Amino acid sequence: MTAKPTPEQDQRWQRDLARKGSDLYALLTDVLAGKDVTLATLKLPHEQKPGEKKEERLRRYLDLVSRAQKRLGTPAWGLCVRCQARVADSVLDEAPWTDVCGACGPK
Ligand SMILES: [Zn+2]
Repeated sequence: MTAKPTPEQDQRWQRDLARKGSDLYALLTDVLAGKDVTLATLKLPHEQKPGEKKEERLRRYLDLVSRAQKRLGTPAWGLCVRCQARVADSVLDEAPWTDVCGACGPK
């Protein structure tokens, strides 16, 4: 169906994941230091639980990014963690930490 990712794609995803990870880590550091940070610019990959604290949201997002970093380069990369369907490359280009397909993701 979809061809194996090219080394260029792998590199780009790796770079985007690393960048997102360090952005999130910086935000988390600020939150833990008691600074007032806005997460408005953060597109959270999953629906947020009501009342979830900033720290919890950031940790959840960071965890998602680090799990994606572990999948990159393995056969599990780009597959939905729930149903194993392939996640479109266009989705991964936009948000390489996406771990569920359109059918399993939040509506
Ligand atoms: Zn799925």
